[in-house]
Amino acid sequence: MEDINIQENLKAVEERIQEACKKSGRKREDVTLVAVSKTKPVSLIMKAYEAGIRDFGENKAQELAAKYEEMPKDIRWHMIGHLQRNKVKYIIDKAAYIHSVDSLALAEEISRQAVKHGVTAHVFVEINIGDEETKFGVPYDEVTELVDKIIGLPNLSVEGLMCIAPNVDNSEENRKFFIKMREKSVDINLKLSHNVTVSVLSMGMTGDYQVAIEEGATMIRVGTGIFGERTYKV
Ligand SMILES: *Cc1c(COP(=O)(O)O)cnc(C)c1O
Repeated sequence: MEDINIQENLKAVEERIQEACKKSGRKREDVTLVAVSKTKPVSLIMKAYEAGIRDFGENKAQELAAKYEEMPKDIRWHMIGHLQRNKVKYIIDKAAYIHSVDSLALAEEISRQAVKHGVTAHVFVEINIGDEETKFGVPYDEVTELVDKIIGLPNLSVEGLMCIAPNVDNSEENRKFFIKMREKSVDINLKLSHNVTVSVLSMGMTGDYQVAIEEGATMIRVGTGIFGERTYKV
Protein backbone atom coordinates (compact mmCIF):
# COMPACT_ATOMS: atom_id res chain seq x y z
CA MET A 1 0.00 0.00 0.00
CA GLU A 2 0.90 3.64 -0.31
CA ASP A 3 3.17 4.80 2.44
CA ILE A 4 4.14 7.86 0.51
CA ASN A 5 4.07 11.18 2.32
CA ILE A 6 2.94 13.71 -0.26
CA GLN A 7 3.17 16.62 2.12
CA GLU A 8 6.77 15.83 3.01
CA ASN A 9 7.72 15.32 -0.63
CA LEU A 10 6.15 18.64 -1.57
CA LYS A 11 8.04 20.36 1.18
CA ALA A 12 11.33 18.95 -0.08
CA VAL A 13 10.53 19.96 -3.67
CA GLU A 14 9.54 23.44 -2.51
CA GLU A 15 12.82 23.84 -0.67
CA ARG A 16 14.78 22.85 -3.75
CA ILE A 17 12.77 25.25 -5.93
CA GLN A 18 13.53 28.09 -3.55
CA GLU A 19 17.19 27.13 -3.45
CA ALA A 20 17.41 27.25 -7.25
CA CYS A 21 15.54 30.58 -7.37
CA LYS A 22 17.87 32.06 -4.81
CA LYS A 23 20.96 30.79 -6.58
CA SER A 24 19.89 32.34 -9.88
CA GLY A 25 18.34 35.53 -8.54
CA ARG A 26 14.83 34.62 -9.64
CA LYS A 27 11.53 35.19 -7.89
CA ARG A 28 9.72 32.16 -6.53
CA GLU A 29 6.42 33.36 -7.95
CA ASP A 30 7.87 33.26 -11.46
CA VAL A 31 8.13 29.47 -11.33
CA THR A 32 4.98 27.34 -11.41
CA LEU A 33 5.18 23.83 -10.02
CA VAL A 34 3.06 21.42 -12.05
CA ALA A 35 2.50 18.21 -10.11
CA VAL A 36 2.55 15.38 -12.65
CA SER A 37 -0.16 13.02 -11.46
CA LYS A 38 -0.30 10.60 -14.42
CA THR A 39 -1.11 7.00 -13.42
CA LYS A 40 -1.82 8.10 -9.83
CA PRO A 41 -5.24 7.68 -8.22
CA VAL A 42 -7.47 10.60 -7.29
CA SER A 43 -7.17 9.71 -3.59
CA LEU A 44 -3.44 10.37 -3.73
CA ILE A 45 -3.71 13.42 -5.95
CA MET A 46 -6.16 14.93 -3.45
CA LYS A 47 -3.39 14.91 -0.85
CA ALA A 48 -1.39 17.28 -3.04
CA TYR A 49 -4.50 19.37 -3.61
CA GLU A 50 -5.05 19.60 0.12
CA ALA A 51 -1.45 20.74 0.50
CA GLY A 52 -2.23 23.65 -1.81
CA ILE A 53 -1.26 22.42 -5.27
CA ARG A 54 -3.61 23.60 -8.02
CA ASP A 55 -1.61 22.72 -11.15
CA PHE A 56 -1.64 19.08 -12.21
CA GLY A 57 -0.14 17.44 -15.29
CA GLU A 58 -1.47 14.45 -17.18
CA ASN A 59 -0.15 12.80 -20.33
CA LYS A 60 -3.24 10.96 -21.56
CA ALA A 61 -6.34 12.75 -22.81
CA GLN A 62 -8.93 10.38 -21.34
CA GLU A 63 -7.18 10.20 -17.98
CA LEU A 64 -7.08 13.98 -17.77
CA ALA A 65 -10.77 14.19 -18.69
CA ALA A 66 -11.74 11.58 -16.08
CA LYS A 67 -9.75 13.23 -13.31
CA TYR A 68 -11.13 16.62 -14.30
CA GLU A 69 -14.64 15.30 -13.66
CA GLU A 70 -13.73 13.79 -10.30
CA MET A 71 -11.64 16.54 -8.79
CA PRO A 72 -12.30 20.12 -7.60
CA LYS A 73 -12.95 22.64 -10.33
CA ASP A 74 -10.33 25.19 -9.30
CA ILE A 75 -7.57 22.92 -10.59
CA ARG A 76 -5.58 23.92 -13.66
CA TRP A 77 -5.02 20.77 -15.70
CA HIS A 78 -1.95 20.62 -17.92
CA MET A 79 -1.90 18.30 -20.92
CA ILE A 80 1.79 17.40 -21.09
CA GLY A 81 1.79 14.20 -23.15
CA HIS A 82 1.79 13.56 -26.86
CA LEU A 83 -1.67 14.47 -28.13
CA GLN A 84 -3.33 12.75 -31.05
CA ARG A 85 -5.61 14.88 -33.14
CA ASN A 86 -8.63 12.67 -32.53
CA LYS A 87 -8.24 13.09 -28.74
CA VAL A 88 -8.24 16.89 -28.69
CA LYS A 89 -12.01 16.95 -28.27
CA TYR A 90 -11.77 15.16 -24.91
CA ILE A 91 -9.65 17.85 -23.27
CA ILE A 92 -10.24 21.10 -25.14
CA ASP A 93 -12.55 22.55 -22.49
CA LYS A 94 -10.72 20.89 -19.58
CA ALA A 95 -7.01 21.57 -20.06
CA ALA A 96 -5.83 25.02 -18.97
CA TYR A 97 -2.63 24.48 -20.96
CA ILE A 98 -1.54 22.12 -23.70
CA HIS A 99 2.26 21.75 -23.52
CA SER A 100 2.71 19.36 -26.42
CA VAL A 101 1.89 21.02 -29.73
CA ASP A 102 4.29 19.50 -32.24
CA SER A 103 2.69 19.98 -35.65
CA LEU A 104 0.61 22.40 -37.67
CA ALA A 105 -2.10 19.77 -38.08
CA LEU A 106 -2.45 19.34 -34.31
CA ALA A 107 -2.55 23.09 -33.76
CA GLU A 108 -5.26 23.40 -36.41
CA GLU A 109 -7.38 20.75 -34.73
CA ILE A 110 -6.91 22.39 -31.32
CA SER A 111 -8.01 25.69 -32.86
CA ARG A 112 -11.01 24.08 -34.55
CA GLN A 113 -12.18 22.42 -31.32
CA ALA A 114 -11.56 25.60 -29.33
CA VAL A 115 -13.80 27.55 -31.67
CA LYS A 116 -16.44 24.84 -31.47
CA HIS A 117 -16.41 24.89 -27.66
CA GLY A 118 -16.11 28.67 -27.35
CA VAL A 119 -12.82 28.58 -25.45
CA THR A 120 -9.29 29.81 -26.01
CA ALA A 121 -6.58 27.17 -26.01
CA HIS A 122 -3.33 28.17 -24.30
CA VAL A 123 -0.57 26.17 -25.92
CA PHE A 124 3.18 25.62 -25.90
CA VAL A 125 5.26 24.18 -28.71
CA GLU A 126 7.21 21.08 -27.75
CA ILE A 127 10.82 20.99 -28.89
CA ASN A 128 12.81 17.81 -29.29
CA ILE A 129 15.68 19.54 -27.57
CA GLY A 130 18.05 16.60 -27.36
CA ASP A 131 17.30 15.59 -30.96
CA GLU A 132 16.35 12.13 -29.69
CA GLU A 133 14.65 9.61 -31.95
CA THR A 134 12.50 8.32 -29.11
CA LYS A 135 11.06 11.72 -28.27
CA PHE A 136 8.22 13.75 -29.71
CA GLY A 137 8.59 17.41 -30.47
CA VAL A 138 9.61 19.72 -33.27
CA PRO A 139 13.24 19.84 -34.40
CA TYR A 140 15.01 22.85 -32.88
CA ASP A 141 15.53 24.57 -36.21
CA GLU A 142 11.87 24.35 -37.21
CA VAL A 143 10.32 25.80 -34.07
CA THR A 144 10.18 29.47 -35.07
CA GLU A 145 8.56 28.57 -38.38
CA LEU A 146 5.89 26.47 -36.68
CA VAL A 147 5.14 29.19 -34.13
CA ASP A 148 4.82 31.67 -36.98
CA LYS A 149 2.35 29.40 -38.77
CA ILE A 150 0.07 28.83 -35.80
CA ILE A 151 0.05 32.38 -34.38
CA GLY A 152 -2.93 33.41 -36.43
CA LEU A 153 -5.15 30.41 -35.75
CA PRO A 154 -8.47 31.33 -34.15
CA ASN A 155 -8.99 30.73 -30.42
CA LEU A 156 -5.42 29.54 -30.01
CA SER A 157 -2.80 31.41 -28.02
CA VAL A 158 0.85 30.37 -28.33
CA GLU A 159 2.46 31.21 -25.03
CA GLY A 160 5.50 29.08 -24.53
CA LEU A 161 7.93 26.32 -25.33
CA MET A 162 8.20 22.92 -23.71
CA CYS A 163 10.85 20.22 -23.72
CA ILE A 164 11.61 16.87 -22.17
CA ALA A 165 15.36 16.88 -21.74
CA PRO A 166 17.28 13.62 -22.09
CA ASN A 167 17.31 11.16 -19.24
CA VAL A 168 20.76 11.65 -17.69
CA ASP A 169 22.56 10.68 -14.50
CA ASN A 170 23.89 14.15 -13.85
CA SER A 171 21.40 16.99 -14.34
CA GLU A 172 24.26 19.33 -15.26
CA GLU A 173 24.39 17.51 -18.60
CA ASN A 174 21.02 19.05 -19.43
CA ARG A 175 22.00 22.63 -18.64
CA LYS A 176 23.02 23.26 -22.25
CA PHE A 177 19.58 22.17 -23.46
CA PHE A 178 17.78 24.49 -21.05
CA ILE A 179 20.01 27.33 -22.23
CA LYS A 180 19.09 26.50 -25.83
CA MET A 181 15.40 26.59 -24.91
CA ARG A 182 15.72 30.07 -23.48
CA GLU A 183 17.70 31.21 -26.51
CA LYS A 184 14.95 29.92 -28.79
CA SER A 185 12.30 31.87 -26.91
CA VAL A 186 14.39 35.04 -27.18
CA ASP A 187 14.85 34.41 -30.89
CA ILE A 188 11.11 33.90 -31.45
CA ASN A 189 10.25 37.03 -29.49
CA LEU A 190 12.68 39.06 -31.62
CA LYS A 191 11.55 37.66 -34.95
CA LEU A 192 7.81 37.55 -34.33
CA SER A 193 7.48 40.30 -31.76
CA HIS A 194 4.62 42.10 -33.49
CA ASN A 195 2.42 39.03 -33.24
CA VAL A 196 3.34 37.01 -30.21
CA THR A 197 5.25 36.83 -26.96
CA VAL A 198 6.50 33.45 -25.94
CA SER A 199 7.03 33.79 -22.22
CA VAL A 200 6.54 30.32 -20.74
CA LEU A 201 9.41 27.86 -20.59
CA SER A 202 8.02 24.50 -19.49
CA MET A 203 11.15 22.52 -18.68
CA GLY A 204 12.63 20.52 -15.83
CA MET A 205 11.40 17.26 -14.28
CA THR A 206 12.22 15.41 -11.08
CA GLY A 207 15.80 14.76 -12.13
CA ASP A 208 16.72 18.20 -13.39
CA TYR A 209 14.29 20.92 -12.31
CA GLN A 210 16.82 22.87 -10.26
CA VAL A 211 19.10 23.29 -13.26
CA ALA A 212 16.06 24.15 -15.41
CA ILE A 213 15.02 26.89 -12.98
CA GLU A 214 18.55 28.29 -12.95
CA GLU A 215 18.32 28.58 -16.74
CA GLY A 216 14.92 30.23 -16.85
CA ALA A 217 12.16 27.63 -16.49
CA THR A 218 8.82 29.23 -15.63
CA MET A 219 7.01 25.90 -15.31
CA ILE A 220 8.54 22.72 -13.96
CA ARG A 221 6.80 19.36 -14.21
CA VAL A 222 7.50 17.12 -11.26
CA GLY A 223 5.98 13.65 -10.90
CA THR A 224 8.18 11.13 -9.14
CA GLY A 225 9.53 13.73 -6.72
CA ILE A 226 6.02 14.31 -5.39
CA PHE A 227 4.05 11.10 -5.92
CA GLY A 228 6.83 8.53 -5.89
CA GLU A 229 7.77 6.04 -8.58
CA ARG A 230 5.13 5.10 -11.11
CA THR A 231 4.27 1.42 -11.12
CA TYR A 232 4.31 1.19 -14.88
CA LYS A 233 6.40 3.04 -17.37
CA VAL A 234 4.70 5.62 -19.55
C1 LIG B 1 6.02 11.96 -16.66
C2 LIG B 1 6.36 13.32 -17.14
C3 LIG B 1 6.95 14.27 -16.29
C4 LIG B 1 7.36 13.99 -14.86
O1 LIG B 1 8.43 13.13 -14.79
P1 LIG B 1 9.19 12.83 -13.40
O2 LIG B 1 10.53 12.43 -13.81
O3 LIG B 1 8.40 11.76 -12.74
O4 LIG B 1 9.17 14.09 -12.61
C5 LIG B 1 7.22 15.53 -16.81
N1 LIG B 1 6.90 15.86 -18.08
C6 LIG B 1 6.32 14.98 -18.92
C7 LIG B 1 5.99 15.40 -20.30
C8 LIG B 1 6.03 13.68 -18.48
O5 LIG B 1 5.46 12.82 -19.34
